[in-house]
Amino acid sequence: MVGSVGNGLADLANGAVRVNGAGKAAALAEPLPMELEQPEAVAAAMAGEGAGKREIVMGRNVHTSCFAVKEPDADDEETGEREATMASVLALYRRSLVERTKHHLGYPYNLDFDYGALAQLQHFSINNLGDPFIESNYGVHSRQFEVGVLDWFARLWGLEKDEYWGYITNCGTEGNLHGILVGREVFPDGILYASRESHYSVFKAARMYRMECVKIDTLMSGEIDCADFQRKILQNRDKPAIINVNIGTTVKGAVDDLDLVIKTLEESGFKDRFYIHCDGALFGLMIPFVKKAPKVSFKKPIGSVSVSGHKFVGCPMPCGIQITRLEHINALSSNVEYLASRDATIMGSRNGHAPIFLWYTLNRKGYRGFQKEVQKCLRNAHYLKDRLRESGIGAMLNELSSTVVFERPKDEEFVRRWQLACEGNIAHVVVMPSVNIDKLDYFLNELVEKRATWYQDGISRPPCIAKDVGVENCLCGLHK
Ligand SMILES: *Cc1c(COP(=O)(O)O)cnc(C)c1O
Repeated sequence: MVGSVGNGLADLANGAVRVNGAGKAAALAEPLPMELEQPEAVAAAMAGEGAGKREIVMGRNVHTSCFAVKEPDADDEETGEREATMASVLALYRRSLVERTKHHLGYPYNLDFDYGALAQLQHFSINNLGDPFIESNYGVHSRQFEVGVLDWFARLWGLEKDEYWGYITNCGTEGNLHGILVGREVFPDGILYASRESHYSVFKAARMYRMECVKIDTLMSGEIDCADFQRKILQNRDKPAIINVNIGTTVKGAVDDLDLVIKTLEESGFKDRFYIHCDGALFGLMIPFVKKAPKVSFKKPIGSVSVSGHKFVGCPMPCGIQITRLEHINALSSNVEYLASRDATIMGSRNGHAPIFLWYTLNRKGYRGFQKEVQKCLRNAHYLKDRLRESGIGAMLNELSSTVVFERPKDEEFVRRWQLACEGNIAHVVVMPSVNIDKLDYFLNELVEKRATWYQDGISRPPCIAKDVGVENCLCGLHK
């Protein structure tokens, strides 16, 4: 997308920072003032980069959107000017966050939370260095909370306290890096198998660990195609198999059939010669609460499960939960004397605040709270899919998922405004607890209205998405 930013900058550059009342920012239907729509513009102005027109290209030109660090002037302390400038930058930034949060639909982040009670902790440098189960010499940690959270998740996945090992990671990616590393340590000559629609962090792990990696085809739903899986493992009978199983793929929210993956392995002569890592970054904490969904459980022969903490759970900083079998960790770890700790994590220093946020949410919501939220998300996702179809827009929703896939909106400005994630001809909305019916209606009405103008000339047409979501879900000219 190419946009230009001009108006409003002169005011800002002159130090006349306009701040609108909260009521105005909340009036959603109104066009937003420049500084709210374009935080980059504010940034440029604050950085003293003048009031000229500036092109912003998504995904590039990152340097046009930074808040420059300026050396303090000698007399700043007396005039207080520096503090004032910084305060106004922060105030504007906060406003743009409020605005951006309101129009967020494309990423699977639950933005609905209140952690006010934890504000008192921001004065502490809480760091869970090393292994959660072994004391280190650094005392300002939150292991008490971390282990409590891990116990909760281990129980959810069907492992007893003395059977599991795990830690709070910095994100879902770190969980995948860890799970695949454990698999590789258990089977050093294993081949990694993952469906084409697996998250890119899985293939990154393969590159980092220099593992042989085989991509498996997917069904139209986005699930792993077990017929192709069987063909490919049978070509490598002599090597153990390490498999990434998706509990919700990033783009289509597809849940791989874990039971069928296990059956395929066992029937193909891989009994006791495979390791399964379940990537539950997106849907790992939703699936236990979906009635018809297959169980993800360590009662089955799986090796590890990871979940992102900032997605469905709703943690304001990136984090994740990684659970594996204790027996596997001995294969991975070696002693690091300096920490007086076992070294089985990917990272060294770890965010000690994140486990407290997770603990806080788990305590507040509990199983029943999550269950309610999951049901609400699935209901709202169905609502969105139905309304898109009624409006003549092709859409797909997997049975166990709250990710609604539909035709990519033609206007990139619209895509950016709603922060939709797109791939080829498709876009998606991930319905999280923070996405309610009002927000969906607001989005739908705007989409339908804009779409009428995109295609009014009768020459350009909505894209065909049959190859992405199947003929039955496509409503393009050919497939109506
Ligand atoms: C988001 C996601 C990841 C990565 O999680 P981060 O927390 O963003 O690192 C991995 N796998 C899937 C399926 C995801 O949706």
